[in-house]
Amino acid sequence: GGWLGLLGGGQLGRMFCHAAQSMGYRVAVLDPIADCPAGAVADLHIRAGYDDEAGLAQLAERCSAVTTEFENVPAASLEQLALRCQVSPAAGAVAIAQDRIAEKGYIASIGVPVAPYAEIRSEADIDAASASLYPGILKAARLGYDGKGQARVESAEQARAAFASFGSVPCVLEARLPLEFEVSVVVARGFDGEVVTYPVSENVHRDGILAISTVPSPRASEDIVRRARAAALQVAAGLEYCGVLCVEFFVLPGERLIVNEIAPRPHNSGHYSIDACVTSQFEQQVRVLAGQPLGSSDPLAASVMLNILGDIWFQAGEQAAEPAWGRALQAPTAKLHLYGKTEARRGRKMGHVTCLGADRVQAERSAAQVATALGISYP
Ligand code: ATP
Ligand code: MG
Ligand code: MG
Repeated sequence: GGWLGLLGGGQLGRMFCHAAQSMGYRVAVLDPIADCPAGAVADLHIRAGYDDEAGLAQLAERCSAVTTEFENVPAASLEQLALRCQVSPAAGAVAIAQDRIAEKGYIASIGVPVAPYAEIRSEADIDAASASLYPGILKAARLGYDGKGQARVESAEQARAAFASFGSVPCVLEARLPLEFEVSVVVARGFDGEVVTYPVSENVHRDGILAISTVPSPRASEDIVRRARAAALQVAAGLEYCGVLCVEFFVLPGERLIVNEIAPRPHNSGHYSIDACVTSQFEQQVRVLAGQPLGSSDPLAASVMLNILGDIWFQAGEQAAEPAWGRALQAPTAKLHLYGKTEARRGRKMGHVTCLGADRVQAERSAAQVATALGISYP
């Protein structure tokens, strides 16, 4: 028993609460938003900003250990908490993961390939950047998610315009690569260095937002799976990471594997682990925080996870209408997860469905049935 603390009250925090509570822990969530997804299920919701001193003090007083579900939490807040209770992941690891310049520099420094890129802090940096980075993507170094804070650019002129439109904040200019497909690996690492990796998930994005995760990956060879898991371990070990981390990869022609980015927390592409693995990524986060041994990450079934975005509330028109979940649940191996968000908006993550199968083909069949029932496109 005891109290565990969480910075951030989104859906990742909500699923953390479920995992913690089922193991007998109580959870205090710090988030400024009254009706945030985790606030509704937490044992205590401290309504305060992520840098609010009184809120942070209250969290530290209540909890022996604190984690984050939100990578944009100020690293300074984690440092402040660390003076009074155990904090994982450490501020230093989060500071790297939340800044693309630091992140790419770190990953390249441990010998793991990243996309060719240039650091952009001024127009002069754009002028000095190699022409080989076009066609490229300009990405704000901080605060982006779901493809926000990114612009596709064909030339230095377009890059300068995009840089200005972002308010001239620090950015990376990245070469646009010929992706064959994308995969990710979730890693859990304990305080004593004990570590597990999850099965490789193959991820399809639409408009910069994760749409589908399939495990086992249909296209990754055994060699890619082995190298992706090894690279993810290397990333975690080099950060002396404590907690759950996700590494996103691009697979390029010739089975070239490069890291896209890392997330210092459980990840949308790891949600399948709730229903399809011995230990979910959220339970692993609880175990690390509570100083318990890690559980097995072994799969119990093949799975296809479909994200449920707010878009499907608007299929009948401008008036939001809740989908008929019963139609999706006619697929008997479909597991529905809704995050308790009251307002549906296009592009907003409202929930997900994990479709299980004895093998991948069966999971895909179930996913096709669910997708048809919900009006989600599935290849
Ligand atoms: P997330 O929600 O995963 O944090 P994000 O906003 O950080 O998203 P990225 O992961 O950088 O965005 O990019 C989103 C998607 O855009 C990638 O998964 C990939 O499909 C595409 N993409 C990003 N960078 C490149 C690139 N260099 N070349 C080709 N496609 C890319
Ligand atoms: Mg990201
Ligand atoms: Mg990403």
